[in-house]
Amino acid sequence: MTTKNQEANIFTSSLDFLVNWGRKNSLWPFPYGTACCAIEFMSSETARYDLSRIGSEYVRFTPRQSDVLLVAGTITYKQAPILKRIYEQMAEPRWVIAMGACASSGGFYDCYCTVPGIDHIIPVDIFIGGCPPRPESFFDAMFELQNKVADESYMKQRAERLREQVEALQEKSKACVASAQDYAKNTSENLSNTVRSKVSKALNTISLKKGS
Ligand code: SF4
Repeated sequence: MTTKNQEANIFTSSLDFLVNWGRKNSLWPFPYGTACCAIEFMSSETARYDLSRIGSEYVRFTPRQSDVLLVAGTITYKQAPILKRIYEQMAEPRWVIAMGACASSGGFYDCYCTVPGIDHIIPVDIFIGGCPPRPESFFDAMFELQNKVADESYMKQRAERLREQVEALQEKSKACVASAQDYAKNTSENLSNTVRSKVSKALNTISLKKGS
């Protein structure tokens, strides 16, 4: 039996909706800023644009506490392994935004040292064009990302992850069985070779003794 007050506080939802609602309204960016685009991102944080309106004001400088990798600026091949490591250190689910022409395509740096778009190194969810893109473009990208997060299925991702883990375990167990079989085969061959040489040595000794 519920009272009228209690009834007003009950709502039903799906787990997917609830998880996605929490995720999309608390996207914490890791700003990987290397050039002028990073300054545009900084102005998105100011009171004029106010990134906290969408729950993303907590800029984190550790990959372990962020879920949006924001690459703003030119990326050189020297920096590429560092960027990749930071991406890999972020816990899943994680998303990537390439902010500006340089991060998206190398921009006007058509040279041997510039990566022609960070999608050559890591997967990218949203590209922002422009040189530099205005804070409005960054907000547009964040809204786009929020829509993308809202459409994801937590249960489906979990099932997918479990399937990948089971497949990896099956592969590992297959490799273990194969290496155990190899080991058993080699050991039995070595053993039979040792026994054979010892027996032939003993026979030789016996025949020598008989001859003397
Ligand atoms: S896209 Fe333009 S503004 Fe952005 S980092 Fe490259 S040169 Fe600078």
